[in-house]
Amino acid sequence: MNGSNGRAQYLLFPCRKCGALSVAISTQKTRRCPACNHANVVARVVVIKRFEEKEHALNALRLVKIPREERDGIPYIAGDSKEKRTTGEELKLLVWTAKRRYPQGITEKELCTMAQQEGLDVARVMKFVEKCKQDGTVLETGDQKIKFL
Ligand SMILES: [Zn+2]
Repeated sequence: MNGSNGRAQYLLFPCRKCGALSVAISTQKTRRCPACNHANVVARVVVIKRFEEKEHALNALRLVKIPREERDGIPYIAGDSKEKRTTGEELKLLVWTAKRRYPQGITEKELCTMAQQEGLDVARVMKFVEKCKQDGTVLETGDQKIKFL
């Protein structure tokens, strides 16, 4: 369909109506915008980046929701992170270590670096942090620091 040896690709693109980013599969004819429900014709969208792996495309979509100035050092936009398992136990251990090492709170960037060093899936760790924020088990303490309770 798009000349790439027949394999489906995952396309990161902005909605033609409202500009919200989403991911379409190259074999889809249209992709409804999750924000405004506009049916985007996949052949006509402006593709920001193409991905071979669905997970990489979804990671990129998550990444763009992080403010630009906080993106340095977050490697997964490159789409080169290998399949990594990040279990609940590993997340707990990471939180525990973060609390011990940074009793005053830790920046998300520092947490990403720690997660990388531990060989964890950074995207999944950040997703976990977002969930903690919603649950109220993480405090946002100014200075862009977060503190686990
Ligand atoms: Zn839209």
